[in-house]
Amino acid sequence: MITKESIQNKFTSIFQAEPIIVRSPGRINIIGEHTDYNDGFVLPAAIDKAVYIAVSKRDDELISLYAEDYKAVYEISLNAIAPTDLHWPNYILGVVDQIQKRGLLVGGFNLYIDGDVPLGAGLSSSAAVECATTLALSELFELNIPRLEIPKIGQLAEHTYAGVKCGIMDQFASTFGKKDQVLKLDCRSLEYEYVPLILDGYTIILLNTNVKHALGDTAYNKRVEQCKQAIDWVKEKYPEVVNMRDVSVSMLDEMVKDRDAEVYTKTRFVVEESERVHEACEHLKAGNLKALGQNLLESHHGLSQEYEVSCAESDYLVDFIKQFPEVLGARQMGGGFGGCTINLVKNNFVAALIEKISPEYFAKFGKELTVIQVKTDDGTSVL
Ligand code: ADP
Ligand code: MG
Repeated sequence: MITKESIQNKFTSIFQAEPIIVRSPGRINIIGEHTDYNDGFVLPAAIDKAVYIAVSKRDDELISLYAEDYKAVYEISLNAIAPTDLHWPNYILGVVDQIQKRGLLVGGFNLYIDGDVPLGAGLSSSAAVECATTLALSELFELNIPRLEIPKIGQLAEHTYAGVKCGIMDQFASTFGKKDQVLKLDCRSLEYEYVPLILDGYTIILLNTNVKHALGDTAYNKRVEQCKQAIDWVKEKYPEVVNMRDVSVSMLDEMVKDRDAEVYTKTRFVVEESERVHEACEHLKAGNLKALGQNLLESHHGLSQEYEVSCAESDYLVDFIKQFPEVLGARQMGGGFGGCTINLVKNNFVAALIEKISPEYFAKFGKELTVIQVKTDDGTSVL
């Protein structure tokens, strides 16, 4: 288990200095997939798995990084930073670059990174690294970076140094998450509301398919293009429309349906998924978990059959749970083509579910299914 003391000890043994330590969590998203880059709504929460970044000042202009997961060192001069093929340093260097671009001075520093967010599983370990780095450097160099800037710096770092044109949801959830709460975030205005997550006898289980199909990036970019195409067509009659956020199903019926059936199906999903975020919120507030579970299943159906960003493994897991009344719903979480499914499972059925589903999954796909039980937790903070 990672603790403040374990990080402190490790840091001191490597860098012979006392660090400032920041924790930034991974995130889940209850519902609202592919809505963030369409300026719509999402419903994420920060989780009890996090990235830890420890930092101390140096007397020279060097950035010296050590990643526990890779047992690797990366060093570069502060005035020579650029994206590297090594990959993991990019999420840190991208943040340094953004801070420098804002004219905030950063000197040389030592940085140690460890964490228990599984990498590349769709729990946004990358956003956690970015947000933790931003707050750690802000504290170390007394930059007073406002809290709302943390997700923005993280998002830009991911765009420029990791090459992923992500929305702002992940960094926002990592920064502003709160224990026992989900965040209903308007990705256009960045206004947000906390909604209590009262699960009352149920728990959130993530089933990690342990696959990430390579066609993901291409398909992701194609979907972004299809959304743009639909907006252009809708704008011909409704010039006030800025992006998918402003589009209704009736507008799509009128302006897109007869022109391109595929673009119609894809974009209708986005409109309906955004509506489901509002519905899911109301169900949570009313304590109607059964209806929330239904929203999850509808979302997965849309992701799989309409938006076409699922895969055989995720579809199998979501189909499998439908036979159990103890599982209220499930869907693939994240950008798509693998990663984790999120499941709403009755507490006393968790062990039985794992016992039933794991061997079946292995028999079908020849891969282990990893089970991750998550709780909501607080956002980015200094330890
Ligand atoms: P996700 O954000 O879904 O976990 P990504 O592919 O976006 O997946 O980001 C994962 C990458 O983030 C890793 O490959 C690694 O480069 C970096 N990363 C995340 N956590 C750590 C960590 N604890 N130590 C070093 N690098 C990390
Ligand atoms: Mg990521």
